[in-house]
Amino acid sequence: MTTVADRPAAEERLTPGTPLLEVRDLHVEFKTRDGIAKAVNGVNYSVSAGETLAVLGESGSGKSVTAQTITGILDMPPGRVTAGQILFRGRDMLTMSGEERRRIRGRKIAMIFQDALSALNPVLSVGYQLGEMFRVHEGASRKEAKARAIELMDRVRIPAAAQRVNDYPHQFSGGMRQRIMIAMALALKPDLIIADEPTTALDVTVQAQVMDLLAELQAEFQMGLILITHDLGVVADVADKIAVMYAGRIVETAPVHELYAKPAHPYTKGLLRSIPRLDDKGQELYAIKGLPPNLYRVPAGCAFNPRCEQATDRCRTEVPELHLIGDGRASACHLWKETLHG
Ligand code: SF4
Repeated sequence: MTTVADRPAAEERLTPGTPLLEVRDLHVEFKTRDGIAKAVNGVNYSVSAGETLAVLGESGSGKSVTAQTITGILDMPPGRVTAGQILFRGRDMLTMSGEERRRIRGRKIAMIFQDALSALNPVLSVGYQLGEMFRVHEGASRKEAKARAIELMDRVRIPAAAQRVNDYPHQFSGGMRQRIMIAMALALKPDLIIADEPTTALDVTVQAQVMDLLAELQAEFQMGLILITHDLGVVADVADKIAVMYAGRIVETAPVHELYAKPAHPYTKGLLRSIPRLDDKGQELYAIKGLPPNLYRVPAGCAFNPRCEQATDRCRTEVPELHLIGDGRASACHLWKETLHG
């Protein structure tokens, strides 16, 4: 029998490093009664086969809006793409026909959400929901679809998959439901998976297990993976590179180890200081002061200036460009040198 692992290999195996997705100068806004919220302001990032990009930021940073634009969830008002390109394997998804975009989004790009319980249908068994992917997209018979659902459940390490295939989503723990979401995302062997806060609702131990599983499957299938998170602590071991977003812009991007060792933006530095460490038990945890800006009234100059301990007068008037600072790194801070070497 064809297995999950060898079926896609026979069709098309991605070569590591093949460019998959490139977001170019993307601008997205929301028109509401309160005015226009500029949610994404000129975002650029890319991910290749076999590569994991972590996109990091607090809520309102634009990280999820960018992902939702890629997957097409924001195709309708009040969200609107005002400029930019989303190139998937070299072709701009924003200029494709609706049908073509749907095909890519159904088969080539899969999404994993934070809340598996609301993403899964509560009145259908998980086996039925997994099998449906094969029935609808590949014309599999019911029997074959069920066998492949069990195989997928096994692959994401759901214990006793054959016995649990007819269980409903609420009969699984949060961690197991998230594994089922991963199995659904994997079912059609996409080129790219976008995981939006995939472990946020889980406790720390389960978070690590789910993250390890994602990393293992990604390496095995050589997919691209975009991991969207507010938690710098969960991506250190799995990401290749990180893009840090603030108020709709990328403020720092770097290979993961360089960013952890020497951040080049005060916001990243603050996020790193906020990660709890085992060796500072009893010490009060650092928190960046203030709140992210209201997107209807982003501060002049550097949007981070009201919260930044290094802000100068220049920061309050001049928007910092994203400077290339070498070694595949970039920082949008007037004082990136001082921050990097400070
Ligand atoms: Fe802070 Fe100024 Fe750098 Fe913005 S540009 S992060 S306010 S030092």
